[in-house]
Amino acid sequence: MTTPSVVVFDLGKVLVDFDYNIAIEKIARASGKTPAQVSHVVGLTPLLFKLETGLITDAQFHAEIQRETGFPHDIEQFSGMFADIFSEIEPMIAMQAKLKAAGIPTWIFSNTNGIAVRHIQKRFPFFANFTGYVYSYEQGSMKPDAKIYEVIEQKTGHRGGDIVYLDDRAENIAAGAARGWRTILHSDPVETRRLLQAMGLPV
Ligand SMILES: [Mg+2]
Repeated sequence: MTTPSVVVFDLGKVLVDFDYNIAIEKIARASGKTPAQVSHVVGLTPLLFKLETGLITDAQFHAEIQRETGFPHDIEQFSGMFADIFSEIEPMIAMQAKLKAAGIPTWIFSNTNGIAVRHIQKRFPFFANFTGYVYSYEQGSMKPDAKIYEVIEQKTGHRGGDIVYLDDRAENIAAGAARGWRTILHSDPVETRRLLQAMGLPV
């Protein structure tokens, strides 16, 4: 089996860890609501899904949170609270750096939103080092929908076993495997490194 030509990384729980509770608690405190009430508005209504498929803008998301929770601050302050929930997963970032140094294209493939992406761009220098980026909110489609996987194939110019794809969610991995991509259901960086090395990748 040949070595894959491109490595596609999920973002959340692969390159950066996150804890939505940090955001929920800050927004709840500012709004005079309980975390459970805010969590209900953000998570259990389709609001976050709409944001991450590009059906609503950041401003509409902020306005809806204001309307539903009484959150009193502007979108700048909201964005700071909403997005400051990430931390780097160092061994995975080190693997991407080695791939880049070896001239192997690396891509970000994420269900996410513009508020989170802008925050991560500002906060984490490693994020600038990828060949390209495919985001659900820009594509109007979320993993595991086939449509957004087609975007990866079009943009990278690769398909099938030429692609290796890392994600922490089984349903996302299954959709990649169904297209013939090589896949790693990521949980442990040591194991992921071993699997990438077994494919001939210099990580
Ligand atoms: Mg993830």
